[in-house]
Amino acid sequence: MSQHAQEVSKRRTFAIISHPDAGKTTITEKVLLFGQALQKAGTVKGRGSGQHAKSDWMEMEKERGISVTTSVMQFPYNSALVNLLDTPGHEDFSEDTYRTLTAVDSCLMVIDAAKGVEDRTRKLMEVTRLRDTPILTFMNKLDRDIRDPMELLDEVENELNIMCAPITWPIGCGKEFKGVYHLHRDETILYQSGHGHTIQEVRIVKGLDNPELDQLVSDELAAQLREELELVRGASNEFDLELFLSGELTPVFFGTALGNFGVDHMLDGLTEWAPAPQPRQTDARQVVADEEKFSGFVFKIQANMDPKHRDRIAFMRICSGKYTKGMKMHHVRLGKDVAISDAVTFMAGDRSHADEAYPGDIIGLHNHGTIQIGDTFSQGEKFKFTGIPNFAPEMFRRIRLKDPLKQKQLLKGLVQLSEEGAVQVFRPIDNNDLIVGAVGVLQFDVVVARLKSEYKVEAIYEPVNVATARWVECGDAKKLDEFRRKASTNLALDGGDNLTYIAPTMVNLNLTQERYPEVEFHKTREH
Ligand code: GDP
Repeated sequence: MSQHAQEVSKRRTFAIISHPDAGKTTITEKVLLFGQALQKAGTVKGRGSGQHAKSDWMEMEKERGISVTTSVMQFPYNSALVNLLDTPGHEDFSEDTYRTLTAVDSCLMVIDAAKGVEDRTRKLMEVTRLRDTPILTFMNKLDRDIRDPMELLDEVENELNIMCAPITWPIGCGKEFKGVYHLHRDETILYQSGHGHTIQEVRIVKGLDNPELDQLVSDELAAQLREELELVRGASNEFDLELFLSGELTPVFFGTALGNFGVDHMLDGLTEWAPAPQPRQTDARQVVADEEKFSGFVFKIQANMDPKHRDRIAFMRICSGKYTKGMKMHHVRLGKDVAISDAVTFMAGDRSHADEAYPGDIIGLHNHGTIQIGDTFSQGEKFKFTGIPNFAPEMFRRIRLKDPLKQKQLLKGLVQLSEEGAVQVFRPIDNNDLIVGAVGVLQFDVVVARLKSEYKVEAIYEPVNVATARWVECGDAKKLDEFRRKASTNLALDGGDNLTYIAPTMVNLNLTQERYPEVEFHKTREH
């Protein structure tokens, strides 16, 4: 194997999907602990301790104690090099989350085992389905009273339409949680409470019929375990690598993130089974990671990561070739070559200068307004990676300046923020309003705060009579012209000058769609 192929085959790039409070942040801490990235877990989000997360950069996050930003962490585990892309856990900013999912090769689904499948997990699973991303599952919070494990698996299978293959099986739960039996290794790994912040010396009992097991977990629980396992072996699926890789089956692990138990079993599974960097589709051809020439796409842009620098960073997923310091890349949309001397990598949550990076890795490019979400970089070839979506916003407000002389600054700020995907901006073609559209309400506050700190403009919101937006396309130029004339009061241009229909009500949208059957109304727009 060439050195390049070796580097590629080591990479595992994944993200965590879960409902808020299921334990994503806690698992991230423990994963990093295992990656030896942090000596002592607990510094990712210093909740309540007055100490703030490495990944929480923005003031607003600090105030609210939530992680708005997406960060990237790289660490070694077993013989793999793992990239974990953090996704915002809050309900808002789901667009960022969705786009981050286009940059990974597998996902970890975390479920609160006391609650089961929750709303946001359902939505995120729909997104992973678009690309058949392989999914691992971690049933969390076994140190609490959880629901019946068999029932949990049934719920995942039925509600998320994915087969479950338990890899570990829990022994008791809550105060009685004793550990898990590993079906593949035929051993019981015993849980000790109170060791959440360190890597535990685990006690292992080989074999299911080992009498030691009865002594250590109680006769009753050992008997129950043997009985349940017979059922599990009869009723549930066995792990199948092919089905996992095609997103049809998920290996399931049980544990407690807070107690730091079971996370390593999941990581073992991830590094063994999850795919190395996968091929990516472009508008011209498929690009595979082993190709010699460099390529990548930008899935996120973020400002103010380091308050001292105030720069904007474009996060790029490398799809093929190799990044080396100082190399020339072709910025396909602009048709320009650029020399990249100072990309950043995200080893263990810190930003450091990268000398080289490989497919599956994320690098950060300093962005002075020329890079947009969805941009492709190559070594000359003119293709564009596809499948990085924009979602039609669901909330709208008119934005107005306190000082009307700064209109130009406001527009510049809004267009740049929309390029980042922080918000969407619409300019009606019939008047001079500026309408801001968001997927979640928190985005509105972030935009006003950033306009003030980065663009020195003070803006306020007013209600506006817009219920939904659709990107408009029509193959027939004449029909499009007619539509533009007749529907102009509800037409606007977005931040990238794309024609958009902004409907006052859903009924209006439906009627308009009926009236103009030749016009296509899109809920998502590809960058
Ligand atoms: P996120 O919103 O998904 O990032 O969830 P967090 O990691 O912030 O966890 C939400 C809450 O659940 C916090 O209070 C955690 O301490 C708690 N939590 C996380 N994992 C466990 C666990 O295994 N057991 C228990 N009892 N609590 C947990």
